Amino acid sequence: METLILKIDPLGKIDVEIPAKVLKSGGLVAFPTETVYGLGANAFNSDAVQRIFKVKGRAQDNPLIVHVSSLEEMKMIAKVPENFENVIQKLTPGPITFVLKKRKEIPEIVTAGLETVGIRIPAHPVAQMLCKASGPIAAPSANLSGRPSPTDASAVIDDLYGKIECIIDSGRTPFGLESTIIDLSSDIPVVLRPGPITVEELKNIFGRIEIPDFIKASKEVENPKAPGMKYRHYAPEKPLYMFYEKDREKILKILEKENAVVIIPKEHSRFYPKNRIMILGEFEKPYSIAQNLFKILRDFDKTKFDVGFIEGFQESGILFSVMNRLKKAAKLWR
Ligand code: AMP
Ligand code: MG
Repeated sequence: METLILKIDPLGKIDVEIPAKVLKSGGLVAFPTETVYGLGANAFNSDAVQRIFKVKGRAQDNPLIVHVSSLEEMKMIAKVPENFENVIQKLTPGPITFVLKKRKEIPEIVTAGLETVGIRIPAHPVAQMLCKASGPIAAPSANLSGRPSPTDASAVIDDLYGKIECIIDSGRTPFGLESTIIDLSSDIPVVLRPGPITVEELKNIFGRIEIPDFIKASKEVENPKAPGMKYRHYAPEKPLYMFYEKDREKILKILEKENAVVIIPKEHSRFYPKNRIMILGEFEKPYSIAQNLFKILRDFDKTKFDVGFIEGFQESGILFSVMNRLKKAAKLWR
């Protein structure tokens, strides 16, 4: 299949006529959001949505997130609880997905047969315009299943070129981590995935929230509440190990013997040989670490190194969300 690559400057005049037409006619469009690139299909078209699963190699029991342009639209496909309406309004548009009881208009394939649906109002101007022009878009991340999520169009091209109708190229995504997911389908909000909106912020906003064990441990679990959690995620193709500062001396010894690279924040570069480092971002600006994470995992695969070692972080704020991904992408070095 010929894939159309469409450059759209998010700060310029945004014309989404072509990709909106592709979506309406049942095609697939990869588009930028403020989190990562999404692979979108018309949320009401089961056949189009089915193709998302096929193209990504995604397990059929892993539900998709529906992207809409307004709270009104959200209400058309899900039941928005009155007591949460104000907070939802406060948090949207933005990098957060709400799990709500679904209405029957949303086909089963989107929610993997669940009674709930994950919905998000993206803030990225291109995603906003596209949702407005085409109606609700079902979209998971625009990568092959198991690969790091795409944070620029070249990552989407690497994974999906020739398999989908259109890829919008709007440069790098601002947050670089998938949306925070919070389940509002029962009385107490449950965090299903930490993300750009941090757990600390959620506590402030909602007061009482539940953080299930599988989020704290970030390990594979048998019966996770967020269905996608049980799958291999984000992993580069080459072996990658996470280590903590206390083991730095040991890692330096390994660097002497093996063709290995360390992935570290800028402030730590002085501890390692110059030709053996990849810079992940800055401690000073922790959101830069989130923004670079998936990109560096993909870049690492393209280097000449055989094995990678990545420094683990103190788990708070946005770095808690980063560590949630990192623990799945890398094995713990011991
Ligand atoms: P992705 O956009 O690729 O990160 O995939 C979307 C993720 O959202 C899934 O893997 C699920 O973890 C989560 N999700 C979507 N819908 C629901 C739902 N109804 N209930 C719980 N989690 C959901
Ligand atoms: Mg994904």
